[in-house]
Formats: sequence, C-alpha cells, structure tokens
Amino acid sequence: MGKKEPIIITDKDEMRQWSRSIRAQSRTIGLVPTMGYLHEGHLSLIQESHKHTNFTVVSIYVNPGQFSPNEDLSTYPSDFLGDIQKLKSIPGGVDVVFHPHNLYDYGKNNGVKTDENQEEVMVVSCVENSGIGHETWVRVEKLENGLCGKSRPVFFRGVATIVAKLFNIVEPDVAVFGKKDYQQWRIIQRMVRDLDFGIKVIGAELIRDEDGLAKSSRNVRLSPEERKKALSISKSLSNAKSAAGKGHIDCKVLRDSVIHAIHEAGGEVDYAEIVDQESLESMKEIKSPAVFCVAAWFGNVRLIDNMEINV
Ligand code: AMP
Repeated sequence: MGKKEPIIITDKDEMRQWSRSIRAQSRTIGLVPTMGYLHEGHLSLIQESHKHTNFTVVSIYVNPGQFSPNEDLSTYPSDFLGDIQKLKSIPGGVDVVFHPHNLYDYGKNNGVKTDENQEEVMVVSCVENSGIGHETWVRVEKLENGLCGKSRPVFFRGVATIVAKLFNIVEPDVAVFGKKDYQQWRIIQRMVRDLDFGIKVIGAELIRDEDGLAKSSRNVRLSPEERKKALSISKSLSNAKSAAGKGHIDCKVLRDSVIHAIHEAGGEVDYAEIVDQESLESMKEIKSPAVFCVAAWFGNVRLIDNMEINV
C-alpha cells in the first residue's frame, strides 16, 4: 500500500476552508498539536486520533508565545522534512500538516517581526512590551499556577492561547494531547469546558524509550552521559509508585526519595510534587487518584516526567 502524502497547509484561511469542506461532508476531524521534531510519543497521538475521527490534522508550530526570553526557543530542535517522512510512515498517515509561519497579530507592527536591532521579537504581551505584542490571552487561572507554571510564569498563558487559536482555525471535533505534559492536558480540558469549545479532548498515554526515559524532542540535546543520568527521573518515579502500591502513601517521604535520587545522579530538581489528578492540588497522603510530577535539569536541558498513582 502506498504511503499517504499529507497536504501541507501554511495559511490559516486555507486551513479553515479545508476543515469546513470536510465537515460539510459530515466527516470528523482530529487535531494533534505539536511543535515538531516528531518522535513515537507524537505518532501515538495520531494513532489515537485515527480511532476517533475520519481525518487527522497535525499542526507543527513552535509557539513563541509560550517561551520566556531566557528559555530555549532559539535552540528548540526542528526537522520539518524528517517529520513529514515519519508522518508518512505511520499506518493511515495523516491528512493535513498545518505548518504556519506565524500565528500572532502584533497590532500596528503586524508582520514586522523585528526590533530596532533587527532581531526577532518574542511574542510577549503588549502590556509587557511597551505596547508591541499580542493583546488577547487565555488564562486558566488556578491550574496554570503550580508545577511548571511556578518556574515558567507565561508558559501556560502561551499554550492555552495558541491551542484556542488552533481550535478556531482547524475547527476539529477531537483534539489529542499527551499525558506526558500532564498539566497542559488538564489545562486544555478545563479551557474547553469553561469556554464551551465543541471539541472532545483526549489524553493519550505517556510513551517512553525502552530504558524508561520519557520521549521528548528535547532529549536530543542531552549528551550520552546526561541521558544516562536522566534515567534517575523515571527510575525514582517508578520506585515511588511501587512503594505507594505497598502502602507507603506519605507524600513527603516519596517526594524526598525522588529528589534525592535525581540529585545523586547530578540533576537539579525544579519540582517533584504529588498532586490530585484533576485539580493538580498538592496532597499529603495518597488516598485518591494522584499523579507524581517531576521537572529536572540535566545540563542545560529541562525534562519533565510523571506517573499516575491509583492506590
Ligand atoms: P510537543 O511537540 O512537545 O509540544 O508535544 C506535542 C504533543 O505531544 C503534546 O500533547 C505532548 O504531550 C505530546 N507528547 C510529547 N511527548 C510525548 C510522549 N513521550 N508521550 C506521549 N505524548 C507525548
């Protein structure tokens, strides 16, 4: 059977036109938003989408609106042609790759992505950037605060806003998000509920390498040595999960064990928190469905991982 060649769309009006023509035929559309540099974690989301819809759109867009000026936007890996090859290789392929150049409106400076030094301007809020920047933002006020939101204060504002924009452009029936980014998945679910998007949000399981490391586009930036050390995250999480299964439900003890293991391996822990699976509020003891979420630095790469614990 021939490999399916996806249609590549870069223009948002064209994207919407395509979707509307499909929906006019009473066919359904699944959207899988990504930032590219695809791996099996992303491909599993596409396979999940196939289970629910007739057509699948994958967006590839590194969203500048979710990066702070000190973060890794400029070094975020990309390989568009490699991504297309991977998409062609999966059973059923994908129908459309939406790959816009820029999705932000800079007001009177629209289209001029430069500052006085002719460098790319970050898509900061116009309030933060003397009137230049994006003006409308979606905030999921409580869920965005903890975990990754603590050290990345504009991150989820950027994520929720770009996902709302993608929903309005692609108009999908279903959208699939990975539980690898657990907080992101819960935030998008909440946004859809609060703002009445007519979209079903599906959370897909976290996919790991064989040795346990959570797959991530950023893993490519780890040295072989750092990659080995980074296994301490999944190993310690897995130990904590089995300890909880044996009745050790004190969150402080479990958190300390994970923090200690990651430090021992040479990593720097951003956070290690056990939270309620829906509210993402901290727990003292695991007596209801919990998720143990970790973010840690190895070298200059920040990795996140989590495990659900249902005792
Ligand atoms: P990203 O390109 O990193 O923004 O990720 C795009 C989507 O893929 C998000 O919904 C992620 O949660 C999901 N994703 C990334 N890595 C994994 C993984 N290892 N397992 C499952 N989903 C993933």
